[in-house]
Amino acid sequence: MNIEKRLLTINPFSRPGKKFSPVKGVVVHWVGNPGTSALQNRNYFEGLKSQSMSNHKATFASAHFIVGLPGEVIQCLPLDEMAYHVGAKTYTPEAISRFGQYPNNCTIGIELCYPARDGKFTPETWISAVELTAYLVKLFRLEMPAGIWTHHGITRKECPKYFVEHPEAFERFKLDTDIAMGEIPEGEEKWTY
Ligand SMILES: [Zn+2]
Repeated sequence: MNIEKRLLTINPFSRPGKKFSPVKGVVVHWVGNPGTSALQNRNYFEGLKSQSMSNHKATFASAHFIVGLPGEVIQCLPLDEMAYHVGAKTYTPEAISRFGQYPNNCTIGIELCYPARDGKFTPETWISAVELTAYLVKLFRLEMPAGIWTHHGITRKECPKYFVEHPEAFERFKLDTDIAMGEIPEGEEKWTY
């Protein structure tokens, strides 16, 4: 798994520059746009900075990582800063009990690209996403499998669609992450923020 760091510019809409509370979970998303690349989605987040501050319908969105169709990983935010990936008016009771009133504060967001409308991930995206999640679980010493969530589990949004429609695939993702964690030698879970 190679990670390309292409950090967003600090701006109110996608990189507010706020330092995190201790990280308590990883949240998996789909990019919501079939056939797009990780870089295109990263550039979409970057482009949000040109919105007007007086626009009441402005979009606030970002994620720490985007995993592309051939499995490349782009990092958009440092791991000690908050992203805007799970904000909503209401949260599920399970999410509030684990993450408090504002889950963006303490969760890492991973967006996954996918080729077609059914939202199914390529094997390459899957493998990179599993490896990335395994690293994050080790780095932040998250509980397994309780530290891995979908956006749907936090707000009921249909995201990622494939995991909402195929809950067994999300279970498989967590199992694969568990297996991948065993392949990371102790003490190797280093990260340059
Ligand atoms: Zn989402």
